[in-house]
Amino acid sequence: MRIADIRATTVTVPLQAPLRHSNGAHWGRFVRTIVEVETDTGLIGLGELGGGGESAEAAIRGLNAYLKGHDPFQLEALRFAITNPTASLYNNRTQLHAAIEFACLDVIGQHLGVPVYDLLGGKLRDQVPFASYLFFRYANDDGEGEVRTPEQLAAEAAELKRQYGFSVHKLKGGVFHPDYELECYRALADAVPGDRLRYDPNAALSVGQARRFGQAIADLPNDYLEDPTWGLNGMRQLRDLGIPLATNTVVVNLEQLATNVRDPAVDVILLDTTFWGGIRPCVKAAGVCETFQLGVAVHSSGELGIQLATMLHLGAVLPNLAYAADAHYHHLRDDVITGGLMSYQDGTIAVPNGPGLGVTLDRAKVAEYAELYKELGGYPYDRDPGRPDWYPLIPNDRWADPS
Ligand SMILES: [Mg+2]
Repeated sequence: MRIADIRATTVTVPLQAPLRHSNGAHWGRFVRTIVEVETDTGLIGLGELGGGGESAEAAIRGLNAYLKGHDPFQLEALRFAITNPTASLYNNRTQLHAAIEFACLDVIGQHLGVPVYDLLGGKLRDQVPFASYLFFRYANDDGEGEVRTPEQLAAEAAELKRQYGFSVHKLKGGVFHPDYELECYRALADAVPGDRLRYDPNAALSVGQARRFGQAIADLPNDYLEDPTWGLNGMRQLRDLGIPLATNTVVVNLEQLATNVRDPAVDVILLDTTFWGGIRPCVKAAGVCETFQLGVAVHSSGELGIQLATMLHLGAVLPNLAYAADAHYHHLRDDVITGGLMSYQDGTIAVPNGPGLGVTLDRAKVAEYAELYKELGGYPYDRDPGRPDWYPLIPNDRWADPS
């Protein structure tokens, strides 16, 4: 079996409302590039990556020159063919590699008639638990969905808990002054008594601010503080807070993981199937974390159903998954996979059991949202539609005004 063609289609799928974060916002929709790897035996494997729009499409199509004729089973060879670490100094293809790896695993699973989790060591759980992912949100075009005040945040958390059954809640912060976000976080805790909590300001706080924030929430049932300040050297200064520290920012490859083992800074490694370059690199990293007793969780960098499937197969096979996974998924209004949006039960999503990734494309939806992308184009993730000339510093002092 050989790769015969690699195709890419960029789509944009609406969100319930624009999601604000420390660097800007998701402007009311996600832009994702759907990758199809077709083999000479007629199988089509699916991959997905975010953000790049037309440039991601061109970059994926450009891999035809490298990978036509490649055997999709040869996954380690694939890694060196397109992400050799020295060549990557010029051409960093980590995220492209991830999308191709997803598609090759999907093809292998279809070829053998087994789910991807069976290629990764086998399924240890049938459902993966998820945290609610709470954002400060702008109102949508219908004037609905705003989350700005402590009251709105508390109401949103209670509603998500009622609708999806979440018992872990993550607040994406770094938007407003930390004193205001502290008030919001405590309101969240009051709204979901007994549930676990996480706060992720995307490294926007100074070490001092992060320390004060951590001290002020020490009485709450915190899973962890996620990237409370920038970098391993910043977070290492916060280890005495007594709250576990997590990152999806500065430990995103095995080299950085080794650094964190030799000179510990963070306790929980958030494994992102895209940022780490595929599902298999995440499984390798989880093995290192098991050895050194670091925590792991499944990270979300934004997803449609294909990427979500990669997160579910990863979550299914990790013995040391002691934390709920993150997903932006419940903010989506629709999906491009057959059957539409996957559903939550009691805060979990069932691991797909079909061959490969276990998801297939709804071609009509792909066409619809590819058309919408052509109409609307991309959006700058690192710009805030409410503050056109703004950009943040690290540590930030240019907070949004909550009033
Ligand atoms: Mg994060």
